[in-house]
Amino acid sequence: QEDLFKKLIAHCKEYGFVFPSSEIYDGLSAVYDYGQYGVELKNNLKRYWWDGMTLLHDNIVGIDAAIFMHPTVWKASGHVDAFNDPLIDNRDSKKRYRADVLIEDHLAKIDEKISREVEKAAKKFGDSFDEAMFRSTNPRVAKHQAERDAIHERFANAMNANDLAELRQIIIDCEIVCPLSGTRNWTDVRQFNLMFATEMGSTADGAMKVYLRPETAQGIFVNFLNVQKTGRMKIPFGIAQIGKAFRNEIVARQFIFRMREFEQMEMQFFVRPGEELAWFARWKEARMRWHRNLGLGDEKYRFHDHEKLAHYANAATDIEYEMPFGFKEVEGIHSRTNFDLSQHEKFSGKKIQYFDAELGTSYTPYVIETSIGVDRLFLSILAGAYTEETLDGGESRVVLKLPPALAPIKLAVLPLVRKDGLAEKAEEILHMLRFDFRCQYDEKDSIGKRYRRQDAIGTPYCITVDYDTMRDNTVTIRFRDTMEQERVSIDRLHEIISDRVSL
Ligand code: ATP
Repeated sequence: QEDLFKKLIAHCKEYGFVFPSSEIYDGLSAVYDYGQYGVELKNNLKRYWWDGMTLLHDNIVGIDAAIFMHPTVWKASGHVDAFNDPLIDNRDSKKRYRADVLIEDHLAKIDEKISREVEKAAKKFGDSFDEAMFRSTNPRVAKHQAERDAIHERFANAMNANDLAELRQIIIDCEIVCPLSGTRNWTDVRQFNLMFATEMGSTADGAMKVYLRPETAQGIFVNFLNVQKTGRMKIPFGIAQIGKAFRNEIVARQFIFRMREFEQMEMQFFVRPGEELAWFARWKEARMRWHRNLGLGDEKYRFHDHEKLAHYANAATDIEYEMPFGFKEVEGIHSRTNFDLSQHEKFSGKKIQYFDAELGTSYTPYVIETSIGVDRLFLSILAGAYTEETLDGGESRVVLKLPPALAPIKLAVLPLVRKDGLAEKAEEILHMLRFDFRCQYDEKDSIGKRYRRQDAIGTPYCITVDYDTMRDNTVTIRFRDTMEQERVSIDRLHEIISDRVSL
């Protein structure tokens, strides 16, 4: 699986999907650029989400708020005081780590040990193996399990109580070593705020400290009244937004899974107090349906309901996708009560209330939030689509089995040879289709090589122009996944393709 992940990263670079940022200067950690095909795929994902929200719902509208916001916004939201990760340094390697991640990795290692014991025993005892029995009676497994449970409990308590000294003590007691230096020379644990700060204005008496937004949601909350009034919105209603967010992540790894500059698609749905849990359940199902509709396989997704909730939330779940490195959060769905709007009312001194004509009262609406990382979604789609196949002749191919609606290029038009008017005929077909579908023309190399290139970027259809085309106005259409070819008349192409590139 790890191998597959490495191949996927290499593929993204080789075929123009994702490049390390500023690569000629050796890159910038956890920052990436999208290439010519990556940007198309990303735009298609954003369009699929945007239309799913704003086109299919009468009561959801979009906005595009600025990245810079008044600094008090982040006081009110709690980010200045509490958007922190616990950080620890190793004195020998001078490397920084997230204390919680070090402990989580340690717990994962114990889990692996247990799994290995179980697997070994399963092999040994074959059909008669009873896993539950083995777990409860095998002394080695019981010891590991007890050790794991004890650390887990201390860890959960320390995180809850924000007890930084205890986090350090767990690292010491578990004899966790620095992955780089291999030593246990740890500093104290301290809180590290994840927001990037910069200065706005340049007056001598001091510029204003502003932040790069760590989430897009606050742009929606501060515009609640603007949108509600100007759009004459009635509760329940939602506001959607797509935009960049920035977090100074300490552990930057796993490619575009955890970036310092990334993009979010968020929708805040405003409801009557007391109705939020019913709406939470509805959005939870609706969002799962949206993911599964992409067709990568229902079993690749699962919910992870939160047991421990943020102080302002009364329900929360993640939609996780099975990445090459395990099930990971792609989207979060949270019932945030009226926390954000109340905080902004308090800090701004402006009344942020909604008058519900049906009930005849005013209240601070409650909020259900759906929040999804575009880059994580992008990674999940690519991981699900990336396929290596061995063909009949022993040859192999790499193909991105992307849902046709998301594919960067929908079809390639390929003249079998350049001469005898075939290239001109191909150009003609290209001009006929290019206004409705993103097309590519390719006349270089053998037809087989051209097919492989299109497979590698996920183009669902290749149209080949040959000598028969010149006689009877038919072409060959080749389907990416099955590699089957069909002879069709040129005037049917538009219909065939438009039929299959919508979700
Ligand atoms: P994690 O626990 O993985 O750090 P989170 O719970 O902090 O994520 P949220 O604050 O709920 O994430 O953000 C909503 C969504 O934004 C996440 O589901 C994820 O898809 C995306 N996201 C958050 N942080 C990053 C990041 N550093 N890089 C890419 N996407 C991110």
